[in-house]
Amino acid sequence: MSLVLDEHLIRFFNQTKDVYGDEIFLNYNDSSKKNSHSSFSSNITSFENQINKCHKCDLGNSRTNFVFGVGDPDASLMLVGEAPGEKEDIEGEPFVGRAGKLLDKILIAIGRSRNKDVFICNVLKCRPPNNRDPLSTEVKECEPYLKHQINLIKPKLIVALGRIAGKTLLGVDNSLKSMRGEIHNYYDIPLIVTYHPAALLRNPNWKPQAWKDFKWIKSIIES
Ligand code: URA
Repeated sequence: MSLVLDEHLIRFFNQTKDVYGDEIFLNYNDSSKKNSHSSFSSNITSFENQINKCHKCDLGNSRTNFVFGVGDPDASLMLVGEAPGEKEDIEGEPFVGRAGKLLDKILIAIGRSRNKDVFICNVLKCRPPNNRDPLSTEVKECEPYLKHQINLIKPKLIVALGRIAGKTLLGVDNSLKSMRGEIHNYYDIPLIVTYHPAALLRNPNWKPQAWKDFKWIKSIIES
């Protein structure tokens, strides 16, 4: 730093100290604590149109459709899965395959449906080839979209379906078992992690535990 600039800074801080005492007040915005992205639209349909041609990662080249999400933009319950599968990629809608049919039944059982006070989306908006797990680079590019969706919808409760959604939203690398059964905090919105419906299809003996979670979810959104 040059001597002249040094002198200017010292004079500035001395004058500031004269006025404010030992505390210096700065108009300081800690962007790491904000869950929003200033260039994204505040209207959910415009936001979808703004991002649905995304090519930030290679999945943009292999996808059939960008799968933004479906449901009520004023929903109190927001469900977040992992990534579109084959059927979702073809239809452009999340959870329309076998796992999605089970999710629809669960929603009916708690008095909702995919268009009734619920919004469903995924961490990734494009299908990973052969349904492999999302890469951390893909999650990094796509996560701002999910954060902005949450910010627009402002649900009463977020439910992460499965470990990948749970660990992405909570920013931890924990097992499903350790994340399940408690109410986490996602930028002041309560968040619960439960089984992915595809896991329930593979292991039907987990269904009673999942049903317990969804009864709890129902009680929270109706409270
Ligand atoms: N699995 C997911 O995580 N999301 C979907 O949309 C479909 C299957």
